[in-house]
Amino acid sequence: MAQGLEVGNRVRLKLTTLDGETEIEGVVLPSALPDHITIKLANGYNVSHPLESIEVLSSTKSEPTATSPSVSDAPQNQDLPTVRIIHTGGTIASKVDYTTGAVTAQFEPSELVEHVPELLKIANLQVHKIGNMFSEDIRPNHWNQIIEATEQAFEEACDGVVVTHGTDTLHITASAIAFAWSGQGGNPPGRIAFVGSQRSSDRASSDAAQNLISAVKWAAEGPQPTGELSDAVVVSMHETSDDGACSIHAATGVRKLHSSRRDAFRPVNTTPLATVRIENKLVELQLEGHYQEARMNIVPRTITTKADRYDETIVIRQMVAGPWLTTREVEDAVGSNVDALVIHGTGLGHLPIENPNDDAPQNIELHQALEQLSLPILIVNQCIHGPVNMNVYSKGRIQQNIGLLGHGITSSPEAAVVKLHFALSHQLDVPTIMGQNLLGEQQQTILN
Ligand code: GLU
Repeated sequence: MAQGLEVGNRVRLKLTTLDGETEIEGVVLPSALPDHITIKLANGYNVSHPLESIEVLSSTKSEPTATSPSVSDAPQNQDLPTVRIIHTGGTIASKVDYTTGAVTAQFEPSELVEHVPELLKIANLQVHKIGNMFSEDIRPNHWNQIIEATEQAFEEACDGVVVTHGTDTLHITASAIAFAWSGQGGNPPGRIAFVGSQRSSDRASSDAAQNLISAVKWAAEGPQPTGELSDAVVVSMHETSDDGACSIHAATGVRKLHSSRRDAFRPVNTTPLATVRIENKLVELQLEGHYQEARMNIVPRTITTKADRYDETIVIRQMVAGPWLTTREVEDAVGSNVDALVIHGTGLGHLPIENPNDDAPQNIELHQALEQLSLPILIVNQCIHGPVNMNVYSKGRIQQNIGLLGHGITSSPEAAVVKLHFALSHQLDVPTIMGQNLLGEQQQTILN
């Protein structure tokens, strides 16, 4: 190993390439190839070059950069609201492990907060760690742990709560917490904001800091939720792929719609409730017109201190409509004692259950199999955007006649599945519940 190229050092290198000489700067990672040096550049990308093509211009040992006071040491400002950060993990809590080059969820919640000292100007912060999980590993028992942690935070006089979470299933957990607080008429004592990030917090290109600032701003200073406009639980993520603004989305009207962009979270059948602008050290919260107007036209619900839980034993089997859906999938599911089926319908919510050319008998078989089932079968929308509408084509009407549920859904498909789980957890009548607007999840802003 050439001198100064130890893993973790910050280096400046002169590089000889086919196009001539150039300079690069970054942190040394374990080498990806023999006789090569691998560097993490400031933009977050890794590059490897042959050792013989480089000259070390400077090299310094990386020092920890966090110099701000720890959360527990920070002086409490009586004029600021109190926000508790409930930490579950995800990329927002991740950093590059320089021994393996992999991204792992390993930030402690207090470290995460200390990386963004601006937060201490917005709120007095407390932290509660549930875990350091990636969100694809989250299960309904984690929803219950988060619900409990939010109840505890409000009992202990917090004004708002921020839940840090991996982005893959963030909209699902956020919807679950929304139904837990407001699904049966409740309204939490304070604001609850979910936040994640698409780039780990130690990358120069990370979106974590601004997403977190925006979430804390909402939790600290946002309006008291109405409980009616899917505003009891919100999601704070980048508005565009640039820095400078984050959107505050209703939990049941948003979804991860891109695997890697910083603006991966887009509204579904609605527009954001608010925007947080973060420029030149100013952080400004602006409610959107449709939300402001809707707030004026409703009476906010009474505040409640307890939220509902989920039955962790409920089994929901999901399948996708299309050329491959057959009776077999349905029979396998029913044979393994599921509580409900969800089928992601095509277009407005359709299934392959007709045989107009008399050459697809499997469609008739599927029709008959579905007709005979007595368990709830919910149709959600493969298109994500737009309503499930089983009134437009005769196909949809046939589906309604055989008892398939879901007509009229305008929430995100995942929020509809969570609502089904919620109804089953509390022995509520599923067809009635699926047809109701429990907390504003039936987005009214954009219907077609
Ligand atoms: N798949 C991981 C998760 O959802 C990482 C993605 C992220 O956090 O953005 O937690």
